[in-house]
Amino acid sequence: MATLKTDILILGAGIGGFETFRTLSKLLKRHNINKKITIVDENNYFTFVPMLHEVATGSIEPTHCAIPLRELIYKTPHEFINARVEYINPEKKQVTTHEGIIDYEFAVIALGSVTNYFNTPGAEQYTHNVRSLISALKLKYELLGQLNNTHKEELNICIVGGGYTGVEIAGQLYDLALREVTQLYPHKKMSITLIHSGDTILNYMPKKVQDKVARRLEKKGVEILLNAKVSKVSNDAVVLADGKTLTSDLTIWTAGFENIGPHYMDPKYCCQKSRIQVTGELTMPDFPHTYALGDNAEILDPHTHIAYPQLAEAAHLEGRYLAHHILRTIHGKKNTRFVFHSKGTLMPVGDWYGVAQIGPFILFGKLAWWIRRTVYVMFMPGFWRKIRIVFDWTVHSFGFRHLINLKSDTDYTD
Ligand SMILES: Cc1cc2nc3c(=O)[nH]c(=O)nc-3n(C[C@H](O)[C@H](O)[C@H](O)COP(=O)(O)OP(=O)(O)OC[C@H]3O[C@@H](n4cnc5c(N)ncnc54)[C@H](O)[C@@H]3O)c2cc1C
Repeated sequence: MATLKTDILILGAGIGGFETFRTLSKLLKRHNINKKITIVDENNYFTFVPMLHEVATGSIEPTHCAIPLRELIYKTPHEFINARVEYINPEKKQVTTHEGIIDYEFAVIALGSVTNYFNTPGAEQYTHNVRSLISALKLKYELLGQLNNTHKEELNICIVGGGYTGVEIAGQLYDLALREVTQLYPHKKMSITLIHSGDTILNYMPKKVQDKVARRLEKKGVEILLNAKVSKVSNDAVVLADGKTLTSDLTIWTAGFENIGPHYMDPKYCCQKSRIQVTGELTMPDFPHTYALGDNAEILDPHTHIAYPQLAEAAHLEGRYLAHHILRTIHGKKNTRFVFHSKGTLMPVGDWYGVAQIGPFILFGKLAWWIRRTVYVMFMPGFWRKIRIVFDWTVHSFGFRHLINLKSDTDYTD
């Protein structure tokens, strides 16, 4: 690819980048503005990350949370480039990808975050994670490989991190253990341990939720270790800071994520904790046409001065805000700052059980689980895609999980 010029460049087609593209392309069309959007992602598909733990445990299929990006642009004048971003230069308004250089008028940096192993020896090498579709599939095939291994009776799984993701995976795994493992893999005894460094799981949730979810996990057979810090991981064990060693045939790391701003940019543009510092209008200071949103941006709440959370809901709203911001800027109009008000938290804990915190109300059980899946389906673009997903899920709720192991000699790399 030679040097390319574009009007609006969106880097990363995850939740924030995807929403910016979706809203902005509609706005440009409606206002009859002839500007070209170029969206760049290292994958040729959009991934809805919050569902990946369900892919990893066979509750849903990969196609239920991923969309080929060319399907989004094929009826538009816009462009998708399947390339890895390597360097962003906001001064020159230029981005280097492994396919070539792109000059832009406006750019939105929405590259997300990656797993943080906190320099724990062995963690990167011996653990699995669910940060990308490929890593979720790797985990799934490892899990199925272990279940199909008839030489070992026991399968010990350790999950590191008792935040949302750790709890969500624990929920899926206990369902798998109680149903599919009991019926389809009767030779296997599966144990699940959730290791958390704090004194309560789900730190950010109300105490009522923490207690109720912990009780449910324990009732379903998950062992929860609190105030337990992992100091080392090996092929078959997790070692804790107090010296205790846990046998682990499969270790899943959900303990943290690292922000990736400095990977692509001169560190002088990144603030603390590696997030790209932006103003209340999500622009980089000194570079009003270069924006950042989602996990890779630090956007401070104007009242509390605390950064907005790295959540799908925030990335989605920031994407929508930026689409309108760019349109107003093109029209030469002033913008107001972005303010994030969360509508609530939706979290599944296994199949058919969830927690929904909406304003002051907290719901537990089937309805909460159903609301979360419905909200997700509404987010997916396309009427027929929505119908297909709802149909698949409905039919599938009467059967077993998707437990086909497609792993061959292929090496699945992130
Ligand atoms: C397992 C899990 C469960 C979660 N559950 C929830 C939940 O229930 N609710 C919630 O609100 N939030 C949840 N989150 C957090 C939420 O997923 C993120 O906050 C959200 O995805 C951030 O959106 P984003 O657009 O910043 O980044 P992402 O959605 O991660 O998108 C980043 C995009 O950039 C692309 N990319 C990255 N690097 C490059 C590169 N160098 N070149 C080209 N492309 C690149 C990626 O392929 C990806 O498409 C969860 C996260 C995880 C990991």
